[in-house]
Amino acid sequence: MKAFIYEGAGDSRLVQDFPPPRAQGDSAVIRIRACSVCGSDLRAWQHGNARISPPRITGHELCGEIVDIGAARKDFAKGQRISMAPAIGCGACYSCSRGFTNLCDDLKTIGFQFNGAFAEYMEVPAIAFERGNVYRTPDGVTDEEAALAEPIACVVNGQEFLHIAEGDSVAIFGSGFIGCMHAELARMSGASPIIMIEPNKSRAEAAHALIPFSSLIVSGEMDLHSEVKRLTSGKGVDVIVTACPVGQAQRDALSLAAKRGRISLFGGLAKETNGFLDSNLIHYKELSIHGVHASTPRQNQDVMKWIAAGKLNVRKYITRIYPLEDIETAFRDLQSQSVFKAVVKPA
Ligand SMILES: [Zn+2]
Ligand SMILES: [Zn+2]
Repeated sequence: MKAFIYEGAGDSRLVQDFPPPRAQGDSAVIRIRACSVCGSDLRAWQHGNARISPPRITGHELCGEIVDIGAARKDFAKGQRISMAPAIGCGACYSCSRGFTNLCDDLKTIGFQFNGAFAEYMEVPAIAFERGNVYRTPDGVTDEEAALAEPIACVVNGQEFLHIAEGDSVAIFGSGFIGCMHAELARMSGASPIIMIEPNKSRAEAAHALIPFSSLIVSGEMDLHSEVKRLTSGKGVDVIVTACPVGQAQRDALSLAAKRGRISLFGGLAKETNGFLDSNLIHYKELSIHGVHASTPRQNQDVMKWIAAGKLNVRKYITRIYPLEDIETAFRDLQSQSVFKAVVKPA
């Protein structure tokens, strides 16, 4: 089968003759119907990722159809479309026992420790079924839309710490797909105003067309602090999300936050740009700062229900669909910020 293999930083290739997986015992094999490209896939392609054990097929934001299933697997059947939460907890450690399976001590993730979905076929390991990571894709949700549930579930995980309520002001650094999803979910929680902060003018404008309910600050062209003051009647922002890998955005978040503000450091930083935060701002303004990593099966299924119910329109973010052969074009388009979300369809 065709598969996109990661070997290390700057070393990935499409092969034509990768041995296709077979269902064994109680695992299953899916034909990949869509897999969207995550920021982490892009970073691994460029810079490598020590958490991925090569050689590895990457890709974890997926929708597939079961084409082969182990005899012992009775809860699913051939022909069914499935989606999954790719971060699989062990079920036994302290975090798993409290429901935070995304923080498992022995976390195994599709596309990291298991082969992923940038291929024609993928084996869904038995443990993914056992841990509740696999679920049926609702009818009426397209393959491409279904593939987007996972990154949005990570946004939900980030926002569950923030308790956004009616009338909260929210500011988001970065107007890529993740930033836009933070805006969409903040709006569902009744936030207003929702302020997008983005240095790339054309991307800022493209995002604003998709989320017209937001206020836009093109940083670099406008004075960030005075603009935020104006939009929040001088009090600063209640909730701030840094949806970009930029240390300066994290520092700005602390100074822009209102008293008792809540901040999500959603985008991680590359090691060499590790941030430094002014902890006295945290102290005197009583700020809460939250990290976030991946998502749980429950959060994935919640998002899929919202998409199925039409509460969350994700279709407008699917800018372009790429055949597997063009996956590196997809990476380059994301790199140049010319698409919001790139979806690969192997078949
Ligand atoms: Zn992802
Ligand atoms: Zn665990």
